[in-house]
Amino acid sequence: MVRRVSIFGATGSIGQSTIDLIRRNRDAYQIVALTGGQNIDRLARDAIDLNAQAAVTSDPARLEDLRAAVSGHQIDVSAGADALITAAQRPADWVMSAIVGAAGLAPGIEALKHGTTLALANKESLVTAGPLLMAEARAHGARILPVDSEHSAVFQALVGEDIAAVEKVIITASGGAFRDWSLDRIATATPEQAATHPNWDMGQRITIDSASMFNKALELIETKEFFGIDPAQIDVLVHPQSLVHALVGFRDGAVMAHLGAPDMRHAIGYALHWPDRRDLPVERIDLARIGQLQFAAPDDTRFPALRLARDVMDTGGLSGAIFNAAKEAALDDFIARRIAFLDMARVVEQVLTDLSGDRRLINAAFTLDNVANADQIARVKAHEVAARLNG
Ligand code: NDP
Ligand code: MG
Repeated sequence: MVRRVSIFGATGSIGQSTIDLIRRNRDAYQIVALTGGQNIDRLARDAIDLNAQAAVTSDPARLEDLRAAVSGHQIDVSAGADALITAAQRPADWVMSAIVGAAGLAPGIEALKHGTTLALANKESLVTAGPLLMAEARAHGARILPVDSEHSAVFQALVGEDIAAVEKVIITASGGAFRDWSLDRIATATPEQAATHPNWDMGQRITIDSASMFNKALELIETKEFFGIDPAQIDVLVHPQSLVHALVGFRDGAVMAHLGAPDMRHAIGYALHWPDRRDLPVERIDLARIGQLQFAAPDDTRFPALRLARDVMDTGGLSGAIFNAAKEAALDDFIARRIAFLDMARVVEQVLTDLSGDRRLINAAFTLDNVANADQIARVKAHEVAARLNG
């Protein structure tokens, strides 16, 4: 049976890895919608090559470029945030959510409404609106499969297990570009240095988030929301080789670890073929050659992001949306060289402190509008705090 597939964020790192897997077996898939942002050439090339029904750019200013790039082909083109929602309304059996940032939330929610399987790379959806996303999936009989490598690993370790028998979930972190840097040196880090990852080849933003450990902070919250477990049961372990992606400890003392090469096509392929396992073009690991695996506790002094994520999980409500938006704004300011690397955590912490007393904001119901409102307030505040730090 041919499966109908849509890919949100098709032009990005996860999107391209997804397309790579689809191309290897393309007769098995019918491409419904591909979406991108600024990379019109890549979006058009893939839409033509994969015979997509629709191609969407998130940027209305790029619509005419997109139209020109696919002219002569039967591809519906559209642009803007609303067009992403409309694309998500096209029926599909499997939808990849791989837009970067909070912009990925609304299309993912919309896709769940027709009971699809949502392969979720966009961790920001769970951080900003986990309860909303999970409730929509339940209400429409849709399924969410994790694509973040750690969460895919936990999911795989839980096959056939009872979540009530889980004592600990441990997600690993490579430690990012600055794992062995002193605090003084980290203080001087440039965007270029932060955007170099030792093991994984990923988009620029998540790579910098790995260097600051904000990526792992988001993943802590993602773990809580997806698996519904207590924050006290979730640990982070620094593991420089990125071969063990997660470990699950059970009440009888057994620990199941998931190992694999650091290649996102594993987690994407697992979600694509689930519940089956199929051949995937990922490198096989040779432990005899590797010899040793290292583990260490994370360092909260150099990397305060994990502590902030724990505060967010304690506070609950819309504090996840505030945390994520403040982080995205601080990251924008760091990339634009308006603030220093360590200022990102300072900005996020200040925004959380300033807004966490606002119970009406934090405890508002989980709706897309309320999440967007909290996101907007946090972004504005983050840029203000950043400007003060800078001046
Ligand atoms: P990239 O930056 O490589 O790609 C992001 C995609 O989103 C691109 O298609 C981009 O379009 C599009 N995009 C950017 N801004 C918007 C917007 N405002 N509205 C709609 N689309 C937009 O990111 P990654 O592929 O690295 O990451 C995607 C998601 O997957 C993130 O949530 C990330 O945290 C998660 N993830 C990524 C991993 C990885 O290995 N890369 C691992 C685990 C999770 P364009 O490029 O055309 O402008
Ligand atoms: Mg991850």
